Amino acid sequence: MAEIREFKTESKRLLELMINSIYTNREIFLRELISNASDAIDKYHFLSLTNEELEKREYQIFLEIDKSKRLLKISDNGIGMTYDELNDSLGTIAKSGSFEFMQKLKDADKDKVDVIGQFGVGFYSSFMVSDLVEVYTKSPFSEKGYHFKSTGEDTYEIEEAQDISSGTKIILHIRKNNKEENYDDFLEQYTLRRLVKKYSDYVRYPIKMEVTKEIAKKDKDGNVIEGKYEKITDLEVLNSMVPIWKRPKKELTDEELAKFYKQQYYDYEDPLTNIYINVEGNLTYTALIFIPHKPPQNLYSEKYEKGLSLYSKGVFIMEKCKELVPDYLRFVKGVVDSADLSLNISREILQQNRDLQKIATNVEKKILSKLEGFLKDDYEKYLEFFKNFGINLKFGVYDNFGEKKDLLKDLIVYNTVNEEKPITLKKYVEQMKEKQEFIYYASGKNKNAVLAMPQMDLIKKQGFDVLVLTDDVDEFAINILNEYDGKKFKSINQGDLGLLSKEEEEKFKEKQEDKKSLLEKIKEVLKEEVTDVKLSKRLTSSPVCLVSEDGLSFEMEKVIASIPSNEKPKASRVLEINPDHELFKAIEKLFIDNDVDFDKYVDLLYSQALLIEGLPLKNPVDFSNKMCDLMIKSTK
Ligand code: ADP
Repeated sequence: MAEIREFKTESKRLLELMINSIYTNREIFLRELISNASDAIDKYHFLSLTNEELEKREYQIFLEIDKSKRLLKISDNGIGMTYDELNDSLGTIAKSGSFEFMQKLKDADKDKVDVIGQFGVGFYSSFMVSDLVEVYTKSPFSEKGYHFKSTGEDTYEIEEAQDISSGTKIILHIRKNNKEENYDDFLEQYTLRRLVKKYSDYVRYPIKMEVTKEIAKKDKDGNVIEGKYEKITDLEVLNSMVPIWKRPKKELTDEELAKFYKQQYYDYEDPLTNIYINVEGNLTYTALIFIPHKPPQNLYSEKYEKGLSLYSKGVFIMEKCKELVPDYLRFVKGVVDSADLSLNISREILQQNRDLQKIATNVEKKILSKLEGFLKDDYEKYLEFFKNFGINLKFGVYDNFGEKKDLLKDLIVYNTVNEEKPITLKKYVEQMKEKQEFIYYASGKNKNAVLAMPQMDLIKKQGFDVLVLTDDVDEFAINILNEYDGKKFKSINQGDLGLLSKEEEEKFKEKQEDKKSLLEKIKEVLKEEVTDVKLSKRLTSSPVCLVSEDGLSFEMEKVIASIPSNEKPKASRVLEINPDHELFKAIEKLFIDNDVDFDKYVDLLYSQALLIEGLPLKNPVDFSNKMCDLMIKSTK
């Protein structure tokens, strides 16, 4: 008895969208089914390496057409599915790529036609060309085989099936032509040939098709008998299978590599670049690496798995070998094929495998030197790369206590207040002014926000350039770097900026001494809030600013505060006042006159400094009340 079950999600709507998609999109169903078949064989193969009960097989994917019954059959001798797997995998479109696909469609209804081709929509895409889909499948871990049947609409049926060997066979009942649409093509051998070449040429298992040819009949001496033909059936292998990285390098064009990349990694854009590595010697291997143009959609999600596919002598070992790429290069795609790795290497052994580590180190070096090449010879391209992936390199600098900082420091570029385009630290240092001791930086939304900061006053006057930091990771990475080419980094709102000459420094000390009692009085008013109150050496036109002592900065405080955790360390707060500003003189007068409003003014001064720094006011209502009072007073 067949059991009837309901699909778990909005399959009807999905089906509608698919059926209405344009013809060229529809054809991707074959790619999807073939890649499922190939995955299923991969899984079988991988398990068979360690499980002796799984017999060796000659892997293949088989296509068969039955024109009179309008059937297209796709079978594989891979892992198959148990009853539960069948329900879980094909019974719910939410599990497969189709769910994400639906989400995307909701956002991009108008462009739905485009989205389909770009996206792996999986098994469900069969309904684009069929009105009934049957699946026969058996897992080697299940006694029984099963038969699944569905029109893709609300329900599907599953029943036991007899006499099937392990693997999966999908039978598509190809739709009939209607006024607008022609489906007959999908029952033609030439179409299948074309589609396999287009989408599945590098699938590593043979995709075979039974073809019938008419051949001139011969007599027993081998002479052709005129006008007589015989039909013979033959198996044709439709895909070239030869992995592209196995072909001689000089034969490979960028176009071909790009085509391979797009097929393999479902990208619709050419990669930014490819890197071909061929090493012979003690450790022989080939690697083909791609840097995508844009970050893969889920690059920053937890689901994203980094890694390169691993092969041994062209035989697949695993899909995402994460040991092959460092975290900060998680966006690269590609393969490594080494004759020196044993095929039945297990995951645990892999992690400690020295050969693998050597390959990984070399691959990393090659990728970085390719990037250095762009930086030197094609700066525009480098900037494009950095816009998309630079943040990963910054994390690379910071990661593991700066283990990789020396490898990466020359690859980081920063926007600065004086330059149009981002520049390297090397260039910054080369352009430093004679008197300039430090590499200055400031965190802000953008260049203009930094330029508007009061702390910039004197620096602007001197014409010093300042790195504009916009990513959360920036200050952390710079702290780990600590210096570049002997020059220390200096935040424009931390510590002493070293902007004054010796004489100026002397004069400043005198002034500070002179105003000591006032500064102490202010400090007393703000004792809960600040660690110190000082005259400022960095302000010229602004009245106050808040700075922190060396160590934790405000920016770091903000970043840490946004991470869910119990510890919320605070940067030390130092209020700096510009002694040459009118406001300072006003406060000094209140101080001398012992005015009742002195505390209020000091408090407002401090609040202003907080606001400029983008830090929250402790008590906004109190702030507002005080403002009101004084405004009323001043207009009376
Ligand atoms: P996706 O391939 O994106 O996961 P699909 O809808 O194509 O989504 O397939 C869902 C699941 O069904 C697969 O992940 C796999 O577990 C199973 N499956 C599909 N086709 C086969 C097959 N030919 N052999 C074994 N399992 C399969």
